[in-house]
Amino acid sequence: NRRFVLASRPTGFPTPQNFRLEESQIPQPAEGEVLLRTLYLSLDPYMRGRMNDAPSYAPPVNIDEVMIGGTVTRVEESKNPKFAVGDLVLSTNGWQDYAVSDGTGLARLDNDMPHPSLALGVMGMPGFTAYVGLLDIGEPKPGETVVVSAATGAVGSAVGQIAKLKGCRVIGVAGGAEKCRYAVEELGFDACIDRHEADLKEQLAAACPDGIDVYFENVGGAVFDAVLPLLNVHARIPVCGRIASYNATSLPDGPDRSPALIGMLLVKRIKMQGFIIFDHYESRYRDFVKDMTGWLAEGKVKYREDVVEGLENAPAAFIGMLNGKNFGKLVVKVS
Ligand code: NDP
Repeated sequence: NRRFVLASRPTGFPTPQNFRLEESQIPQPAEGEVLLRTLYLSLDPYMRGRMNDAPSYAPPVNIDEVMIGGTVTRVEESKNPKFAVGDLVLSTNGWQDYAVSDGTGLARLDNDMPHPSLALGVMGMPGFTAYVGLLDIGEPKPGETVVVSAATGAVGSAVGQIAKLKGCRVIGVAGGAEKCRYAVEELGFDACIDRHEADLKEQLAAACPDGIDVYFENVGGAVFDAVLPLLNVHARIPVCGRIASYNATSLPDGPDRSPALIGMLLVKRIKMQGFIIFDHYESRYRDFVKDMTGWLAEGKVKYREDVVEGLENAPAAFIGMLNGKNFGKLVVKVS
């Protein structure tokens, strides 16, 4: 059983040395337990937060503990009557080949699911995040302008496509010309701006002649600065993530801009609301599965995965994601 543990806590950007690959015996399930073999491991930005020993909405990974992570797994051995050998299960094995579980928190998947990794992407947590954040907090209306950052990623690509289905004009912000081309030509966005361009602010303003009604915030930083002056009266900002700051070790330099931000929220009556997707499973997950299943079947929502082969490549892929190297939902094919 290969597994990556957290070897040390990063200061700033993680490095490969923060992770340690260990070999251990394949664990044996006790009575009531199952042995799960990892097929796919999801790599997600939130994992960076769990590497810090800092207060958050979830506890950190401890040093020498297996890195956490959502996984699609097969039941290899079962001493739990609810699961049979061969069952396909959504679990949280983390960054390792095998784990045992007493069944708590496991979600059964269709055993013959043709594309099981989608349960970690467009049909899973990131797709659900897009759905709840956009529809319930963003409340997009036909004809409105929606801007989404990290626009070709797991969450952002779904946000933009759902907004198009709701009749909005959709502008993406993404890292690089190739991602922007994909957002427009494949995902059907009206425009997409490369966040690395020096005139990001001007380009975004030109793409949003009627201002911005919904900004789906995935990144913060310079993109947020470009969005802020364009926000309309009664704009909504679902705050989903702020990946541009996940590796920051201090606040940015410069004058305190919070009075300007708060002033803008007040004068323009803007709603800016953070959300954590775990809160919404009970109330909205069924709606999401129904809608997204239909949209995928009808070809109305497309997805792209960035599949990395081999557990040994997980640290490099994860670090790459924090630099925008992934193109689509990042998953590791473990076995
Ligand atoms: P993505 O697949 O979008 O991958 C992350 C992307 O972030 C990169 O590809 C890159 O895209 C962008 N990025 C990386 N570094 C920077 C930077 N310095 N400045 C601007 N952009 C950067 O990841 P997800 O779709 O899984 O997640 C997107 C966001 O949603 C994250 O902030 C994540 O934390 C958040 N999230 C929040 C949840 C919640 O419950 N609130 C649940 C799930 C995700 P590019 O180069 O194209 O800009």
